[in-house]
Amino acid sequence: MNDHTSIEEAFRLTERQKSALKKLGIATIEDLLLHFPYRYENPADFKWIKDVSAGESVRVWGKVTKIDYEKTWKKKMNIAYATVEDTTGRIKLVWFRQPYIAKMLPEGSCAIFAGKISVRKGALYLANPLYEIVPCSIIPQFSSVAPAQRLLPLYPTSEGISSLWFQKTIQKVLSRFVALRDLPDPIPQEILRAYHLPDRAVSLRLIHRPKNLAHAEAAKKRFAFEEVFALQLSRLAQKEMVKQNPSFTLANAKEYAEEFERLLPFLLTKAQQRAISDIIRDFESNVPMNRLLEGDVGSGKTAVAACASYIVARNRMQAVYMAPTEILARQHFEGLCKLFAHSNLTLALLTSSQCEKFPSKVDPHRSTHIARAQALRWFNEGVVHILIGTHAIIQKRVSFKNLALAMVDEQHRFGVFQRAALRTKNPKIPHFLSMSATPIPRTLTLAIYADLDLTLLDELPEGRKPIETALVRPADRKKTYEFIRERLAAGEQAFVICPRIEEPEETDRATIEMKSVKAEYAKLKKEIFPEFAIALMHGKLAPKEKEAAMKEFQNKKANIMVSTSVVEVGVDVPNATIIIIEGAERFGLAQLHQFRGRVGRSDKQSYCFVVPTKYSAPVFRRLKALIEAKNGFELAEYDLQFRGAGELAGSQQWGFSDIGMEALKNIKMVEAARHEAKKLIESKTLGRYPLLQDKINRLSTQPIHLE
Ligand code: ADP
Ligand code: MG
Repeated sequence: MNDHTSIEEAFRLTERQKSALKKLGIATIEDLLLHFPYRYENPADFKWIKDVSAGESVRVWGKVTKIDYEKTWKKKMNIAYATVEDTTGRIKLVWFRQPYIAKMLPEGSCAIFAGKISVRKGALYLANPLYEIVPCSIIPQFSSVAPAQRLLPLYPTSEGISSLWFQKTIQKVLSRFVALRDLPDPIPQEILRAYHLPDRAVSLRLIHRPKNLAHAEAAKKRFAFEEVFALQLSRLAQKEMVKQNPSFTLANAKEYAEEFERLLPFLLTKAQQRAISDIIRDFESNVPMNRLLEGDVGSGKTAVAACASYIVARNRMQAVYMAPTEILARQHFEGLCKLFAHSNLTLALLTSSQCEKFPSKVDPHRSTHIARAQALRWFNEGVVHILIGTHAIIQKRVSFKNLALAMVDEQHRFGVFQRAALRTKNPKIPHFLSMSATPIPRTLTLAIYADLDLTLLDELPEGRKPIETALVRPADRKKTYEFIRERLAAGEQAFVICPRIEEPEETDRATIEMKSVKAEYAKLKKEIFPEFAIALMHGKLAPKEKEAAMKEFQNKKANIMVSTSVVEVGVDVPNATIIIIEGAERFGLAQLHQFRGRVGRSDKQSYCFVVPTKYSAPVFRRLKALIEAKNGFELAEYDLQFRGAGELAGSQQWGFSDIGMEALKNIKMVEAARHEAKKLIESKTLGRYPLLQDKINRLSTQPIHLE
């Protein structure tokens, strides 16, 4: 047996176990060894039920044998009871005023309970215990617990396979690998030594059979390092490969950029100028640009992208600009048409439902609808200089004559394959510019964007005032509406965002959200703001209807826009100064910040009102972070520290395991991994480490995702 042996060969498995392992993605012995415990329990921390006494705070574990409810007559109080037993005895659990707690704890399930032992009528009971359901297989038998028992690992399971099975099987495997060479380590020895990291074989033992938590932590750290290191290496290797290919050299970039500036109705910020210089340097270098433009909402990324596409178009080459939604694609298209109205350039808009060209044949100041087939021909012949659209622009049939620049707005919405498709439309590699306002912590930026050069837009256009953000309690609602009424009467506009609705089925969700938006619309129209016009926006509207609603709001025909989260990203209506976010606790901090970014886009004072429907300490703490944070990056750090890496926007797509994500709290480690990866790539010595090479190759063919 070695680490590549298939698990079905090594162990006799039932069909259910086989399918459970498949679900967990475990095929080989190595996969099994890399299936880490999510937590450890120390049996010494538990009491046998027969040993508990009144007044003690205890942890017990056992099986739930009975659930009961009662409503007291006098106090109208709901009470839930449960009985729990281990091999030594049984005890009653009581929850006052929390009947739902018992509902989530089915009879027959096993759990760990923590709480204080109380007495009532001479009988002991556990009052309001916290609990966690665990596999019954981990609950020890009375006789099986030796006093010096090690920590008990708890493994992620799937139906048909228990935590105990993992514990036993992994121990068996580990005891068979006696010699270290049986478990080769992909990380070079020098690096392990330099950072005092245990090698792979030792780490596997520490993580699966730790004597104490510090040992388990040391092992986790090592695997986290391995993960971050390997990802960095694969990104840097890709970057090296891209550099081997020529790209388009663009002439007179500087002059064209100056020309562009004169078209703008405003002066560029220093940060925008710096970003444009970075891009010009890349354009002149003949090596494909691979740049991430990261800037908080409202920092003016669009103008930078517009400038880049202008330089390309003036060179009579082509640029594409991909936006995440139809609303945004249209907004950008219309913005650029206006800006380039007299520049003698041809622009087009392509989404799954719309296709337009500017200028139209008959009117040089307008765009008109065109047939898709005709449009495709024009892209292919190079007639269209700047194409703006949704992911419709990366469909197979779309091809270009000389695509020199591909830009993606809010690219976390697109997968790596789509990005790759955008890049390979051409024999030469186009320059690539990615824009993002998604606030992610610096460690994560370093870890996942190792292949991108980073330009920060760390400055807002002049005159922007910080958005005043306030928490609205039920009692403040009326006052808030009165305040808004005054602003609306003064000609300003407001967004009202309806709560997000959790539905397993996307389609159901859209339908239910549409209903909730309509209900909110009716309420505002009838009871609150009858004197104002209200536009309605939600995901179930046809593209044309969305466009009409957007127009209504942009042209100030509507004072208020009631919307679901579809306006989340990028919508730009500078006259809107107020945003109310209903059900605020249902949105992540990053998303709330994106909403807030819909206002504060002019020199007028803007306001963001967050209205939670549920109140709890964590909700308050999070919303307070939103109120106090100066920018999205502060918020992202907050999310990482207080809620865990899993809560970061889009975390599932980043291709990190839980351990890898936790590592991101440790900037030193990420920097070390990055430093070592760079050294290996730059010295071209990666070839000396075949195991590492192999790991990286696997990383780059897997659908692991860049963002
Ligand atoms: P984001 O970075 O969020 O994409 P936008 O590009 O949508 O931001 O810009 C936000 C708003 O600020 C837009 O209305 C845009 O026209 C305006 N804007 C951009 N740059 C400047 C600037 N240098 N001075 C004044 N306004 C600007
Ligand atoms: Mg934008």
